Amino acid sequence: MEYLPNILFAIALVLGIGYFANNVRKLIRNIKLGKDVDVSDNKPQRWKNMAYIALGQSKMVKRPIAGFLHVIVYIGFVIINIEVLEIIIDGLFGTHRIGHQVLPESIYGFLIGSFEILAVLVLVAVIIFWLRRNVIKLKRFMKDEMKGWPKSDGNIILYFEVVLMCLFLVMNATDTVFQGYNSGNIISQFIAPWFDGFSEATLHTIERTAWWLHIIGILVFLNYLYFSKHLHILLAFPNTYYGKLTPQGQFTNNEAVTKEVKLMMDPNVDPFAAPPEGAEAAMPEKFGASDVQDLSWVNLLNAYTCTECGRCTSECPANQTGKKLSPRKIMMDTRDRLEEVGKNIDANKGTFVDDGKQLLDNYITREELWACTSCNACVEACPVSIDPLNIIMEMRRYLVMEQSAAPTELNNMMTNIENNGAPWPYNQMDRLNWKNE
Ligand code: SF4
Ligand code: SF4
Repeated sequence: MEYLPNILFAIALVLGIGYFANNVRKLIRNIKLGKDVDVSDNKPQRWKNMAYIALGQSKMVKRPIAGFLHVIVYIGFVIINIEVLEIIIDGLFGTHRIGHQVLPESIYGFLIGSFEILAVLVLVAVIIFWLRRNVIKLKRFMKDEMKGWPKSDGNIILYFEVVLMCLFLVMNATDTVFQGYNSGNIISQFIAPWFDGFSEATLHTIERTAWWLHIIGILVFLNYLYFSKHLHILLAFPNTYYGKLTPQGQFTNNEAVTKEVKLMMDPNVDPFAAPPEGAEAAMPEKFGASDVQDLSWVNLLNAYTCTECGRCTSECPANQTGKKLSPRKIMMDTRDRLEEVGKNIDANKGTFVDDGKQLLDNYITREELWACTSCNACVEACPVSIDPLNIIMEMRRYLVMEQSAAPTELNNMMTNIENNGAPWPYNQMDRLNWKNE
């Protein structure tokens, strides 16, 4: 019985980490459903981007209020969780505040004192975040795609953080041994008097309860990440590393198609001659994307990383002018469809069985796709280097090249290019007629 708490703790730890590891395995499997793409170039620049954008939060602070609050929550959450190391060692080996035993009093006091201050700052930041979502009702959190689960998800995580920070402070305030050290209890010393008059045994029970709930809360939080937009806490790092390095506005072209178009536009080439050898073989099986498996794995990593912050949508000119398009919804739909495909694979012993659905039409409509001006504002605005435009262009490419389903205006223009070598409806001889239009 003496070791029962340690055994229970070890079981909770193994279950929590085991379930998380299983979800990480599924996550990687789902991301790998995407097409391969070579992102092994320019490693120094990629590391720099990751350090600057994910670790340094450089794009977050472009909106100073939200950015500053986010930095507090981010730093606070990461640093306070260093204290989890102590909880794990104490839990497994039955020690009490092992940090105090192995570290000099001043250092231990400084660390826990800093954690307590950060906990209060996190609490303040989280309350402001909650007010922005639920009382001030910022426009970007009120869009259609944010109704239902996305709204609840945004709030649940805030409640989680409030509870975890409170448990941490109550745990410290009711820990008579820690209060006795009289160092590091910078905040908790003011909470401790709330428990005056409680017996030693009751204080011990409250302290143990807060301690257990704190660590169980952290394990639940860890496992909640997979089902939440808060997966970005982990994925922002690889996502910024694998982010696009080419200039914004530079699209990827299929080599075989580019070659064919160049030949078509070259006046020295006989249009009736047989296609060059090998051109046929280089053609892809399918142009563009109609479902998640047609996208690249970086697109899919993007989808899982989306924080649903809506900065992209708030900058999108199509959205601002009342069109149906929201780049945030493009990312959310891609993630939801990918999850659906992943569950299909799980249910069918590792193989995807056609479910009669796809990303195009079942999730993202053609109207949304054609509303995009390809301005790149969403890409520029994203704080974690997500590229919604790339997904939109891949799906448009599918519509144009596989289904010839472009809007009439575009079809006319493409026919003109094909027939006349220019977008205007005049033959080569009359090519300057456009001036008179
Ligand atoms: S590229 Fe398209 S989706 Fe992105 S902001 Fe511009 S119009 Fe909106
Ligand atoms: S794509 Fe980027 S900017 Fe848009 S909601 Fe997701 S994280 Fe925010």
